[in-house]
Parts: sequence; C-alpha cells; structure tokens
Amino acid sequence: MRWNFDNSYTRLPGPFFARVLPTPVHSPVLVLLNRALAGDLGLDVDALQGPDGQQMLGGNLQGPGSEPIAQAYAGHQFGHFTVLGDGRAHLLGEHLAPDGRRVDIQLKGSGPTPYSRRGDGRAALGPMLREYLISEAMHGLGIPTTRSLAVVATGERVFREEALPGAVLARVADSHIRVGTFQYAAALDAGMGVPGQQGSSARDAAGEAGGADFTRALADYTLRRHYPELAEGPTRYMDLLEAVIERQAALIANWMRVGFVHGVMNTDNMTLSGETIDYGPCAFMDDYDPATVFSSIDRQGRYAFANQARIGQWNLARLAETLLPLLHPEPETALAQAEEAIGRFPARFSAHWHATMRAKLGLGNEEAGDEALGDALLEWMQRTGADYTNTFRDLSAPAAMTSPASVNAASGDPEFEAWHTRWRERLGRQPGAAEDALQRMRAANPAVIPRNHRVEEALAAAVETGDLGPARRLLDALIDPCDERLDDSEYRQPPAPEQRVYQTFCGT
Ligand code: AMP
Ligand code: MG
Repeated sequence: MRWNFDNSYTRLPGPFFARVLPTPVHSPVLVLLNRALAGDLGLDVDALQGPDGQQMLGGNLQGPGSEPIAQAYAGHQFGHFTVLGDGRAHLLGEHLAPDGRRVDIQLKGSGPTPYSRRGDGRAALGPMLREYLISEAMHGLGIPTTRSLAVVATGERVFREEALPGAVLARVADSHIRVGTFQYAAALDAGMGVPGQQGSSARDAAGEAGGADFTRALADYTLRRHYPELAEGPTRYMDLLEAVIERQAALIANWMRVGFVHGVMNTDNMTLSGETIDYGPCAFMDDYDPATVFSSIDRQGRYAFANQARIGQWNLARLAETLLPLLHPEPETALAQAEEAIGRFPARFSAHWHATMRAKLGLGNEEAGDEALGDALLEWMQRTGADYTNTFRDLSAPAAMTSPASVNAASGDPEFEAWHTRWRERLGRQPGAAEDALQRMRAANPAVIPRNHRVEEALAAAVETGDLGPARRLLDALIDPCDERLDDSEYRQPPAPEQRVYQTFCGT
C-alpha cells in the first residue's frame, strides 16, 4: 500500500498516549475510498481497495511501521473540564507523503482504549459517512480541515438508541494535537494521575522532575511539527500562542464565509495546527440567522453561528493558561503577557472577517464604510430570511452587477434595491475591471454547500438501502464548489419547508 510511517508522537513522554491495537472487526468492506487523497499521499490506490487494504482500513491488519496508539487529552466540554483521550480512535502512525508532508493516519470507531470510559469504542455508519462528506466538502471549500481517506463498514452492529450498522473512518490530519492536549499536559504537570493507570502520578510514570516538563515537551513538539520557523526563537512559546491565535482567527472567519456552524467547539475539538476537526453535529446554515444552532446538545446556543469567534477566544484563553509557566518565570508577568495576546484575538478575527466580507462583496480595496455595507446586507438577509449561500452567489453573477432583480431572494424589495445601489456605487469607486470583482466574488461565494437536507438524504440512502449513489453525487459536486458550471446545480436549491433540518445529533 506504500505506507511510509515515521512516528514521532510516540517519542513524547509515556503519559501522552497508550499503546493499544484496534479491535478487529467481523467483515470489513470498503464503502468509500478517497482516491484523490490516497494518490496525493503516495498510496497505492488499488492495494487499498484490495483485501489487505480493507482489512487494514478496518483495523484488522497493521501496516509495516504502524505503531497504533490512543492519544490522551483533556478538554472543556460545554465549559466543564474533563479528562478524555481517544476513546474510540487509534492513531496508526504518521505517514510521510511524497511531497514531504507528515500526516496522522487515524482510525475512528476502531474499538475501545484505556480512555473509553463507558463508551464501546465503536461508531455507526451514518456519522462516519457524515464526517467524510462534510470534511471533504470543507476541503473543497478551501477551509483547513482534517480529511477523510475511507469509510469501512464493519459487518457488526453498534447499539445506540437502536441497532445500527457499524463503520470505521480513516482520518488524515496534520496532527491531532488539541488545545485539550495542552490542558492534559498542564494537568500532568500539576500532579494529576495518568488515566488508566492506578495509583501512580504522571511524574512517577514518566520519571520526570516537577515543573512544567510535560507542557514544555508538548509545546516543543508542536513547534517543531507545525511552526518550525518559530521553534528556535527566544520567545518561542509566546510566538506559538500568537501563531495559533492567528490561525484560529482565520479559520473561524473562513467557516463563517460559508455559513458553517461547528456545533461542538469544545477545547478538545480545537487543533494547534488550525485544521477544523470533529464533525459531529456541525451543519451549514440555509437562511441567514446569526443565532443559528443545529446541535441537539447545544441547548444554550453556546456554539451558535455568530458566537463562534467568542468561543474561539475562550478556548484560546484555556490554551494560554497552560503555557503560563513557559511564558515568563514571574507568574504575574506571564499572566499579563498571555492576557495581552488573548486580548488581541477580537481584532485579529475582525480583520479576517472584514477581509472575508470584502471578498464576498467583490471589493479589492478598503473604505471606511465597507463594514456597514456588509452589515446592512446581512441585516436585510436576516429580516427577510434570505438564503445565505444563494444571495451571495446570485450577487456574483455578471447580471447582478447591473440589476438587483438577479438576486432571487430580493425580487422587487425596495430595501434591497437601495442596498444594491449603494453596493454598485462602492464597486464603481475601486480600481480594476468589473471582471476582477466578479472573480473575487465567485472564489469567495460557493454555488454549492453540503446542505443539511441533501446530507441527510445521502446518509439515509446509504444506511437504509446501501445506496451510495446520492453520497457520491453530492461529493462530486463539492470537489470544486465555486465552479461556474454549478450555477444551476440542483444542489443550490434550499430545502422545502418539509425538508428543513432543524437539529443534528452527535451520534457518538
Ligand atoms: P467528541 O464529543 O466526539 O469530541 O468526543 C468526546 C470524547 O468521547 C472523546 O474522548 C471520544 O473519544 C469519546 N467517545 C465518543 N464516542 C465514544 C464511544 N462510542 N466509545 C468510547 N469513547 C467515545
Ligand atoms: Mg472530539
């Protein structure tokens, strides 16, 4: 299969992981294979599809150089601190791609680990297909994300509220280092015991001295792996914090560009690499409403569409806390520096969001009134229940440059026409051709997103009748979602009232 494993995470101190093999499954059958991704990773696509490939992707067979581990981490879930860890995932190893990239190859749903708590270590087919679909859609939309290499049906049942077909997802990521991994390291430094090991404190287990050794080991590792240009500098831990803040600010603005609501922005679901991770109850907004929440478990709207930047900052503050002992020997100075860095997040996020909105409106230069122009459109959309994706995409067509009527949702609304006049005047005040503005807009405003009703329809066909056709067709449309050929795609259609999806479920 041409695996080229070179494992570095296992060189961290012992308490960061547990060596544990996936639990074999009854009869692994490949349901989806991401041939394009496999090719990019230098893997042998035919071998992956063959009997050994299916066995390996199902967790029954270890490839050469694979050293399966479950990673330990902690995290704030809906604001409450918990010690977690991969309860149903195995990191098979780090694969070196032909282009030199190092990626984690992880199986999810591959059986229990020392961190499973009361869980069965398994996953159902529907949620694993959902992660495959949405993560690949995010990649197509140009948003940093973990990827999906394959979904394998296990031939076993998992029991949730009912018996469901089981599956294993093969996930590819720059790494699985989370804010929660740093929280775990800090807890070890504070003398917490190692989960799964009775009686011994982490320091005994690792044979290390006190201080911030676990956090330092993890921070140094993260710097080398994701921010090598910062790894040797005298202020490297502050530089790391600032780099992560920057990537997360950019990421969340990018989510909002396409109407994405993550739904479970717990600190264990925020990566140090800046990739989107953990596609549980996430969903895309149809009509624009900043209060949009889909997740059935998010009863307070903590992770609502327009709350995501604020929660991002809260999560980053948890990261900053873990780094305090590394920032400065004087605790008060360390705290002041961390607070200052976290305090800069709103401005960094706003800069990314305003740049995003300018691109969505076709603006290539900056004017004082741009923010108000974008806000006025969003307010109009919220008031009229206009479709977020389609309104921006309709505006990205040549006809919209002259006629407000080409925006479907607006049909003859005088308030929209007034906004449209403002927008056209603003476009007229920037240098460059109208075609440049259109190009900017077409790149920022996708024609197709994985609308919830189409995702649910594809998953139902796959799970209930074994028909992967709808999922494959949806995936095809999402490879290049800004392509002009998709302007009259059936996937642009918002849900009819009876098709609307109001709630999504983790399905864990
Ligand atoms: P999530 O909400 O998906 O981020 O998961 C939170 C934690 O629950 C992680 O540590 C998972 O590994 C764990 N978990 C979720 N589902 C299961 C399961 N079926 N068995 C064991 N652990 C699980
Ligand atoms: Mg998670």
